[in-house]
Amino acid sequence: MQESHAKVDIDQLQFELERLRGENQDLRIALSTITEHGDLVEAQLHETNVKLQAEIVERQRTQAMLHALLEIVSRERDDLEIILQTIVEHGDVVDNQWQQKLQDATRLASFDGLTQIANRRRFDEHLDYQWQQMTREQAPLAVILCDIDYFKQYNDAYGHLAGDDCLRLVAQVLHSTLSRPGDLVARYGGEEFAAVLPQTNEEGAIAVAQRMQLALAQLKLRHDYSPVSPHVTVSMGVACTIPSHQRSIHNLLDEADQLLYQAKQQGKNRILHRRHHQSAPSNSVNDSL
Ligand code: GH3
Ligand code: MG
Ligand code: MG
Repeated sequence: MQESHAKVDIDQLQFELERLRGENQDLRIALSTITEHGDLVEAQLHETNVKLQAEIVERQRTQAMLHALLEIVSRERDDLEIILQTIVEHGDVVDNQWQQKLQDATRLASFDGLTQIANRRRFDEHLDYQWQQMTREQAPLAVILCDIDYFKQYNDAYGHLAGDDCLRLVAQVLHSTLSRPGDLVARYGGEEFAAVLPQTNEEGAIAVAQRMQLALAQLKLRHDYSPVSPHVTVSMGVACTIPSHQRSIHNLLDEADQLLYQAKQQGKNRILHRRHHQSAPSNSVNDSL
């Protein structure tokens, strides 16, 4: 009986030993797997660490660059603030300078440098504007074309500078003859002038032309080489119309030009208008003054 008990114990111990051996084996396998895996994790950690280190160095470099840039920008901002303050403090001066420049530019674009009256460009603009106004108002618009007689001879005899002076004087005389706000006289070409007279019929325009002729005669600018007068004279063509969409500025100017041409043909120093009511030559005026 005791013998059979001992046998059972031995069997159990044997069994237990086998089980423990199996567990031991399993643990060994598990341990070796963990060790192998651990190496892999460690390698990955090392790699990540290296990358992080490189990134930190790169970030430090970028930060240093940004600092340098920030310094430059803030220095430039200081400079700009000083400039801005100067502009604000001297704003009036700067404004005036620009205002002056604008005025000079406008003057250059619209006025004739020699005679200081309106130039051809300004004349065209003004005529265009008045043409539209008079079309709306259905009121008459007149133009006068005026050319100095024997001006080539004047230049040849008295010299180009004296010729320039003569042009200035004639321009001033023509200019001072006009009084209405819409009236304008311009230097149209070399020794040619043109006037725009809104709300003026033919009769009125002829009267203005005669006033111009008389004012010039009163100046008595000596011209010993003019066959028509001892003084500087002009010939004029006067044209007038009530503007409409059927007529054009070109027709009006053309008509005044043809009349001026006829005035020259007919002996100069005279005013010609559409009805060919030629006014008396101003010789008598010149001579009597
Ligand atoms: P007409 O009586 O037929 O008008 O003859 P004219 O001699 O007046 O005209 P012409 O066209 O033969 O000569 C015009 C002269 O005007 C010639 C030119 O030297 C002169 N002239 C044009 N512009 C100027 C200028 O700005 N200054 C001066 N001094 N002379 C000028
Ligand atoms: Mg001439
Ligand atoms: Mg001419």
